[in-house]
Amino acid sequence: MSAAAPQFDNSYAGLPDAFHDRVAPTPVARPEPIILNHELAAELGLDPDWLAGEEGLAMLSGNALPEGSDPIAMGYAGHQFGQWVPRLGDGRAILIGELIDRTGQRRDLQLKGAGRTPYSRRGDGRSSIGPVVREYLASEFMHALGIPTTRALAALATGEEVVRQKIEPGGILCRVAASHVRVGTFEFFARSGRSDEVRQLADYVIDRHYPDCRGADQSYQALLVEIIDRQARLIADWLRVGFIHGVMNTDNCSVIGETIDYGPFGFVDTFHPATVYSSIDVGGRYAYNQQPAIAHWNLARLSECLLELLDEDRQQAVDCANELLGTFPARFEAYFHPALAAKIGLPPDETHARLALDLMDLMSAGEADMTLVFRGLATLPSNGPEHDDPVRALFADPAAFDQWAADWRQRLVACGGDDENRRGAMEKVNPAFVLRNHLAQWAVDAAIERLDFEPMRRLHGVLARPFVDQPEHADLARPPRPEQRVTTTFCGT
Ligand code: AMP
Ligand code: MG
Repeated sequence: MSAAAPQFDNSYAGLPDAFHDRVAPTPVARPEPIILNHELAAELGLDPDWLAGEEGLAMLSGNALPEGSDPIAMGYAGHQFGQWVPRLGDGRAILIGELIDRTGQRRDLQLKGAGRTPYSRRGDGRSSIGPVVREYLASEFMHALGIPTTRALAALATGEEVVRQKIEPGGILCRVAASHVRVGTFEFFARSGRSDEVRQLADYVIDRHYPDCRGADQSYQALLVEIIDRQARLIADWLRVGFIHGVMNTDNCSVIGETIDYGPFGFVDTFHPATVYSSIDVGGRYAYNQQPAIAHWNLARLSECLLELLDEDRQQAVDCANELLGTFPARFEAYFHPALAAKIGLPPDETHARLALDLMDLMSAGEADMTLVFRGLATLPSNGPEHDDPVRALFADPAAFDQWAADWRQRLVACGGDDENRRGAMEKVNPAFVLRNHLAQWAVDAAIERLDFEPMRRLHGVLARPFVDQPEHADLARPPRPEQRVTTTFCGT
């Protein structure tokens, strides 16, 4: 093995056997790299040449692991669409180890689609190339937006086929996360009465992610507060860019507030608060505007797991959990509302957040494209509506926008500041490009049908700088034409 091979550390594998199963990836026939994330590799202290070479490819495909890797599948449970499922776990993902990155942070390296594990049930442990392309694009785009997320280090084609609705080429995603502990990991132990493991897991999460809680008066209460706060921030981040996760089950809810497990997600084009894309979300449980309430619900499930740690007295523990959970809505608004005000170029103030929400109501009524409206507003002068045409034309009822814009201009003038600065600030929070569903579908179709990864690479390149106008890629900023619209997204696995 070459000196450039990564030095894995395996703190999670060092936890007792109840936490995981030791399982090696199943080799694949002919692994081919589709895309390697050089920037992330450097962050992780990996030698890009090594990663792109034979040994790197062997690691990324699971065909051979560097010395020091202690691969495991993590155990977890979860509530799926509100239904309790006692055993889920990594059924198509294998944690190959942890690396300490350049900043000293411990990061998980996981291979998604690496073969069967004891948690696979009837699944094949594999992934089609479609979900690999989708997750690579989505997670790197979220990162470019500044939103906490798992990352993608590499996407590979396996040279094998998987059987889904059709036969599709297989793929593997090498995913990087600050950790893969989920609300469902706590539920796995708590709901089967394994209190010792719940405490061990809580201690592990504190040591790894929330060391400041150690010094707190009540460290487990402090932990719960931190997790509630990170979720509140994450959901505010999602809503400000029109992201719909699609399957916010407790097993897809990270305790460190990263976006995790990209499945049937979507970004809204024409804004409507009740938008749902996921084919399996027939009741709209995980619709755009349900996400704060669902995160709150997931956190309630987490709190139940922590009761014994919150207070020795059961009633006191319940009261404490309720009190902490009760802070979620205000925490969410404390993140979301200033972000909304900033999207319309105004300082953080409740009136300004309301004004932005009014605009979103108008988008919904007028079937306007969320991304184009917010981005377009940045360019409008504050001294009069003469140049409003490109934005007002996005609304079915442009007159309704005119009324709103008059109120908006009053606030702009009242708050002072010059248009150029405001434009700069607005363009830093309102992306010009988003991973629209039809674009993701375009990249996926090319990959599945022709093993053509050019659309994916082009999209990835543009979405890496979402706040920069890139006129040569104007076609990727446009909403779908009616015939291009993708209204349903799939888990796919
Ligand atoms: P998710 O789609 O992330 O909500 O997955 C839910 C559960 O199904 C997890 O336990 C996954 O590991 C498992 N799963 C999904 N797809 C597969 C597959 N192809 N093979 C084995 N397990 C799978
Ligand atoms: Mg999942």
